Amino acid sequence: MKRHSHLISVAFMVVACLIAAREYYINYQIDVSLGQADNVPAEEQNLNHSNQTSPMLIGCSNSNEELEEQYQTVEIRKGDTLGSLLAKFDISKQDIESLNKSLKGHLNPRDLKPGQAFSIQYKKDQQGVQLLGAEFKPSLEYTVVCERNEKGQFKTQKNTVELKTVLKRVDGRINASFYSAALKLGIPAKVVKEAIKALSYSVNFQHGIKSGDPFELLYEQYEDAQGNSIKPGNLKYISVVAKGQLHRIYSYAPAGNCAGYYNARGESVIRSLLQTPIDSSRMRVTSGFGSRVHPIKGFRRDHKGVDFGAPHGTAVMAAGDGVVLKAGYFGDYGNYVRIRHAGGYETVYAHLSKIASGTRIGASVKQGQVIGNVGATGLATGPHLHHEVILKNVHVNPQSVKALPTTHLATKDIQKFNKFKQEIETQIVGLPMKNQLASNDLNDAVKNKIA
Ligand SMILES: [Zn+2]
Repeated sequence: MKRHSHLISVAFMVVACLIAAREYYINYQIDVSLGQADNVPAEEQNLNHSNQTSPMLIGCSNSNEELEEQYQTVEIRKGDTLGSLLAKFDISKQDIESLNKSLKGHLNPRDLKPGQAFSIQYKKDQQGVQLLGAEFKPSLEYTVVCERNEKGQFKTQKNTVELKTVLKRVDGRINASFYSAALKLGIPAKVVKEAIKALSYSVNFQHGIKSGDPFELLYEQYEDAQGNSIKPGNLKYISVVAKGQLHRIYSYAPAGNCAGYYNARGESVIRSLLQTPIDSSRMRVTSGFGSRVHPIKGFRRDHKGVDFGAPHGTAVMAAGDGVVLKAGYFGDYGNYVRIRHAGGYETVYAHLSKIASGTRIGASVKQGQVIGNVGATGLATGPHLHHEVILKNVHVNPQSVKALPTTHLATKDIQKFNKFKQEIETQIVGLPMKNQLASNDLNDAVKNKIA
């Protein structure tokens, strides 16, 4: 009787497998005959075969799946390599090698970061696992797709995600600082830093602005087709009222020139050396110019510059266009850079942890160019930038450097600039205020709650 029911269950399985995977009929027959040849007692065979979760049945349905092409999303974790991840799917070394070869020039393996994912397509058959293709999204701006062509070779293509530029308008009031107020309103840090740079020639961020001063910004934002913000673009316009005075600055590119910052009269805002040759969001003045007690030597002596305390590694910028006079280690100054500018000015940057590779004696540098990083080399109690300004061999207070001659837009550019200004005005009037939108949302929320 037991033997009989066993035969029935085997017959049932054969039918089930025939339906599930006709192609595997032959293989299955071999499996069954192997199973029957085993010395396993009949009862156990019976139990196994009538059980829906028996290994053989699973094997059967899996065989069916293995015939098909499969898609898999692969998550990248720390320490993974493309090869190690693909090997987990039994993809051959040869396929991994061919894929890597094809990806070369389109995808830098270093662009694949932990937390990201990519997708693969592969096929399993008697010969093993064959990789059919892979798709990577190393950034929000493009995808890298690798597929086999008719000849079976991998072909890789880089597809750029179409981005559109959208103008954003934000207005607000300064609270603790302009930087934190702007960030709180959702303005990207890159744009805020640009705005600070644009304003830094005419507005003193330490003493010139106060809580409650209004500001307005217009900047570009790149969005994908779904309207997701992908990356910030450039600052177009910034206005701020400081000490009752309205400052308006436009980012404008005269014909055939790079964009620069101009005031409403079409004058370049760059009229002096940068007063703060360091990322101003990360620094504080730790020691001013003039007489002080030296923090290490203990006695009173003149401090020939200004110290900016900032985290180790903070970027240090050239205060103005110029030529590098010295770049290297210089006693108590540690790593030291000295630059000569127009009008008889020279500037010094000391205690740097690192001098930028392009900052060599005789090299030309641009205002705002990174020349090194904050450190504590030489005689220093902690990471800070020691900054000196020297006018005709006399140390002067960097905070009170006289303005350099004003540069105007050329007459032929002024008309275009005035038109550009009008466009900005129109855009400001036409665009909703982000801040106001937010408060309207808030009002709606309150109303809804009451209703
Ligand atoms: Zn100093």
